[in-house]
Amino acid sequence: MSTDVAAIVARTPDGPLESGTVTRRDVGPRDVRIDIAWAGICHSDIHTVRGDWGQQSYPLTVGHEIAGVVAEVGSDVAGLAVGDRVGVGCMVGSCRACDNCLAGRENYCDEGFVDTYGAVDRDGTITQGGYSSSVVVDEHFVLALPEAIAFDTAAPLLCAGITTYSPLKRWGAGPGTRVAVVGMGGLGHMAVKLAVAMGAEVTVLSRTSAKRADALELGAAAHHATSDPAVLGGLSRSFDLIINTVSAPLDVDAYLETLAFGGVMANVGAPPEPAKVSLFRLFTNQRSFTGSTIGGIPETQEMLEFCAEHGIAPGVEVIDASQVNDAWERVLKGDVRYRFVIDAATIGQGVES
Ligand code: NAP
Ligand code: ZN
Ligand code: ZN
Repeated sequence: MSTDVAAIVARTPDGPLESGTVTRRDVGPRDVRIDIAWAGICHSDIHTVRGDWGQQSYPLTVGHEIAGVVAEVGSDVAGLAVGDRVGVGCMVGSCRACDNCLAGRENYCDEGFVDTYGAVDRDGTITQGGYSSSVVVDEHFVLALPEAIAFDTAAPLLCAGITTYSPLKRWGAGPGTRVAVVGMGGLGHMAVKLAVAMGAEVTVLSRTSAKRADALELGAAAHHATSDPAVLGGLSRSFDLIINTVSAPLDVDAYLETLAFGGVMANVGAPPEPAKVSLFRLFTNQRSFTGSTIGGIPETQEMLEFCAEHGIAPGVEVIDASQVNDAWERVLKGDVRYRFVIDAATIGQGVES
């Protein structure tokens, strides 16, 4: 037995998103059924549907920034109850037995975590994501939303928030560190807010000066427009940590040159093309070039508590489901301040192509 629920569906890599349904399994002993209230739009949703990272199985419903209310719990669910406000991010499963899983790093599960959409689930079906009215998820992958987190802006924390929180913590952002955030979109603006709250000195490296005033308002100490080719040269050896959130390839060597001794360039942006790195740029100043993907479940809960404590919320543009195709176009143009969030109550009322 299973239930079909309203969803926004991609039927092809290139076509517009359409109205449709997805099938949700019945609630098992450890499952939670969530009525989705808000669904964030991540650039990864677009990469995935467009086939940037490999072939997909269609129809596909994407979305891995989910905020909703628990509507039903399985018989063995202990930590959540009907009516709780909860979130689901990029993972809905992992092996739960490997060293990484046991250490709470399910995002680095040796067997690969089960993505919230487009992955083979434990029952052999393809997972379907959050652009829908409800979802059934194993309790372990459901996050409790702290009281102080506003519901309508919570969803982007589940991907954009944790994806930037994790590398900022891992590589020591805090008082006395100089952090550069490259690209100020959904992830980038969260990186700025989080790094400022951690006490770091933050610089935004954006293509143009269009987001300068916003960057400074978010607490950045400086903003530079990288469309001027002289800008990066003038920032030689200025930063301890770079968080690269850009969805397209970059001139990596030019950014590495801006790192001081022992500096780290941590990449979270995921363009389809491989990056090109000069080892000589790494030899100089013992720089590191690395990456990070989302965060484990305990760290995601920690991030939510951190945001609650520091009053951090994403900047969102709330849209109806009917506007989703236009929203995707605007994400591709870098024209969103700073995350679209779909009001899931409107899913099922039709999508404009
Ligand atoms: P987004 O909102 O579109 O932001 C990306 C930003 O990158 C844009 O706002 C823009 O910032 C900059 N940018 C875009 N095209 C560029 C270009 N051609 N050259 C230079 N800069 C460019 O996307 P997002 O949702 O934040 O996601 C960003 C990337 O992270 C995507 O590739 C996504 O798939 C990936 N991601 C990775 C993880 C992970 O776990 N590692 C998790 C989530 C997302 P400016 O206007 O300021 O220049
Ligand atoms: Zn995402
Ligand atoms: Zn595992």
